[in-house]
Amino acid sequence: MPFKCGQCDREFSSETGLVQHNSDKHGIGKESKQEKKEAEQQIRREKKESELEKSLHAKKTKRIAKFGIAILVVIGLAYFAISLIPPSPVSKLREGLGPVGSQHIHSDVKLYLNGVPVDFSVSKYQVNPSRQHVHMEGGDGDVVHVHATGVKTGFFFSTLGITFNPTCVVMDTGKRFCSNENNTLKFYVNNEPNNEYEMYVMKSTDRILVSYGNETNLTSQLDSVTTKAQGIDRGQVAVRPH
Ligand SMILES: [Zn+2]
Ligand SMILES: [Zn+2]
Repeated sequence: MPFKCGQCDREFSSETGLVQHNSDKHGIGKESKQEKKEAEQQIRREKKESELEKSLHAKKTKRIAKFGIAILVVIGLAYFAISLIPPSPVSKLREGLGPVGSQHIHSDVKLYLNGVPVDFSVSKYQVNPSRQHVHMEGGDGDVVHVHATGVKTGFFFSTLGITFNPTCVVMDTGKRFCSNENNTLKFYVNNEPNNEYEMYVMKSTDRILVSYGNETNLTSQLDSVTTKAQGIDRGQVAVRPH
């Protein structure tokens, strides 16, 4: 008999018989079947887990991708929006501005807000190291010293922290004076209305009036603009070098 049981020495005529015997009497085969089953289950479990993990990972990736796309869209829109905005007003006001010392001329300037003149003789509006191109100085609030070529009125006001354009004056305090149905912003050079507003390049002995309010007659405001620059630029008044 070629097939002998290793446990109880019984002999069998065929391998199938021995396997059957081992399974029935000694639980061999069965055990391995059980183990096999468990192993298979383990593999299935692991497969399931890895699939779950994969799908979770896929979901995560999808979420990150969606988020990334959203960010790209926002960045794209921001760039598009920026491209629509005209060049910054400040750079527009500096266009054509010469270096400090390229000339030294003077203009008289007055700014009225609702009939009240702004006092430029106070120290916050006077010359300081960041106002080299153009400034008021010596505690005088009437005459503007223009120390460079190409100084625009808008640039002068911007050095004081004041925004000036055809529709609004925004003071350094943040207070806004914008044209509406009752009040308008007017700009005069040498008693004549001028439509250049902030883009007007200041010239020697100019008498400049910026007026916001509901006045229809500006005669008294125009008359209040001093003529100090004429005295300085025509050499009638000595100005110490500065
Ligand atoms: Zn000067
Ligand atoms: Zn000066």
